[in-house]
Amino acid sequence: MKLLIVGGVAGGASAAARARRLSEDAQIILFERGPDVSFANCGLPYYVGGEIAEREKLLVSTPERLQSRFELDVRTLSSVEAIDRTAKKVRVRDLASGREYEETYDKLILAPGAAPLRPPIPGIDLPGIFTLRNLQDVDRIKERVDQGVKQAVVVGAGFIGLELVENFVKRGIPTTVVELQDQVLPPLDKEMTTPIVETLLANGVTVLLGRSAEGVEQTRDGLAVLLKSGQRLRAQLVILGVGVRPENKLAVEAGLEVGPRAGIRVNEHLQTSDANIYAVGDAIEVTDAVSGDPTQLPLAGPANRQGRIAADNIFGRPVRYRGTQGTAIVEVFDRTAAMTGASEKALRRANRPFRKVYIHSAHHAGYYPGAEAMTLKLLFDPNTGRLLGAQAVGGAGVDKRIDVLSVAIQARMTVFNLEEMELAYAPQFGSAKDPINMAGFVAAGLLRDEHPQVDVDKLLVAPVVEQPFLLDVRTPKEFASGHIPGAVNIPVDDLRSRLAELPHDRKIAAYCQVGQRGYVATRILRQKGFSASNIGGGYTAYKLFQPTAQ
Ligand code: FAD
Repeated sequence: MKLLIVGGVAGGASAAARARRLSEDAQIILFERGPDVSFANCGLPYYVGGEIAEREKLLVSTPERLQSRFELDVRTLSSVEAIDRTAKKVRVRDLASGREYEETYDKLILAPGAAPLRPPIPGIDLPGIFTLRNLQDVDRIKERVDQGVKQAVVVGAGFIGLELVENFVKRGIPTTVVELQDQVLPPLDKEMTTPIVETLLANGVTVLLGRSAEGVEQTRDGLAVLLKSGQRLRAQLVILGVGVRPENKLAVEAGLEVGPRAGIRVNEHLQTSDANIYAVGDAIEVTDAVSGDPTQLPLAGPANRQGRIAADNIFGRPVRYRGTQGTAIVEVFDRTAAMTGASEKALRRANRPFRKVYIHSAHHAGYYPGAEAMTLKLLFDPNTGRLLGAQAVGGAGVDKRIDVLSVAIQARMTVFNLEEMELAYAPQFGSAKDPINMAGFVAAGLLRDEHPQVDVDKLLVAPVVEQPFLLDVRTPKEFASGHIPGAVNIPVDDLRSRLAELPHDRKIAAYCQVGQRGYVATRILRQKGFSASNIGGGYTAYKLFQPTAQ
């Protein structure tokens, strides 16, 4: 067996190492266009900020190590230029010498990744404008930062964009982030990103949402990014973090099928439309594990696992790739945001019915020092309770909850399973009723119709005549420090003695800070004959829907 692999980082290097573990006899050649293989793309922003101090730490492996441990023929600075499917050979250009040569294959794995997008706007190629994909990019960015930068502009508030923003601020650079959409971290639902915007602002970042960069101009002291709104943002360093596009050129020119979003089409064994060619990683179209629809989800975990699966299939193990759930996490200053499965907006786009709950919990027992707040949003099927998606934002413990929920979604669990989940508990780590259990209790109770809930976002857009009587059941002090406009304050402990103040001919929407006292109030009111529901997630959820950015 002669196996050729194009691309030597996440997907390609995983495939090569797995292939060798399965076959000592195979000839395995790994082609990589750049000078490095198997480097840590995900660590690059932290090298700019100094958190990762040594460049060598970014090299997970080296060509020499791959050669000695796995007996791989690693050819760096080698670009695969074309595939001849009939003759089963590729044309390779040695970038150091310019020499071209051919190499035949029995099986070929494409792992070329995805390239950062460069929007075709005037001035886009001026010096000082960077994208970030590999070590050469990070060297250039770091060099510029080390030279001294008075202002930086990051175009695109996605995961990589915000990681760079944080690291620029850590280097003392005043930074502006510009985003076309009306929110940061576009894969998440907008309200879940409110705490991220708050922390950006608190750390001195200028956040410009709903703005588009229309051009870049050279100025006397650097660059000016021109926005459609007419603003000119001065900077000596501009980062484009506006997304990536699958590197499908080789595949397209070889006549392999690609999807509408440019990803190389593969079957569940990661085989392309040519049975001898497999493809993995950011370059491929994957199946969304929740909706079953084809999609594009460039993430390191899936790329690594796909590399392994492609090698398995080539060496006689017919393993299936089950699809991608989009489990992702990012830290922005003191906050962490994470998601798995479908977002609310994706469910709305797909016209798929769902229900949702918000839980605001401490990440471990509140009485133990150091508890950090977290908001957890759960999306689930209104009939079966099957979990469809989850998002969390907060401090410590966000990662653990999203990982548990990712597994729950993979196992096709329901909100009823969350009620029963047995999770490790000591006060430093969680709560006897973990936020996951709490989310399960609230969601399952909703489906059992134990406590009717009104979604705060629906309430905000309801016509005036349909607005319920808003009942704030928190303490007067809490009420005074902020409440939903129009609400009447009757603390939950006084409710039984003040029922006469409430209307029988109107729906009542009760709320507290996070939803728990509102739930108690709803139970009291319903038993006393009122048409009452609880505002899910309470005032804290309401605040998430309030705009924060400039
Ligand atoms: P890559 O890792 O990009 O490797 C593809 C390689 O193929 C490239 O080195 C390229 O030079 C080479 N190549 C392309 N065409 C050819 C050719 N014709 N001939 C030879 N070689 C070729 N994901 C996460 O899940 N979590 C994170 O925190 C995270 N952070 C990230 C931070 C940054 C700055 C970046 C850039 C990405 C991050 N990602 C993260 C995404 C993750 O790195 C990718 O999903 C993953 O690397 C994809 O693996 P891949 O093998 O498909 O492509």
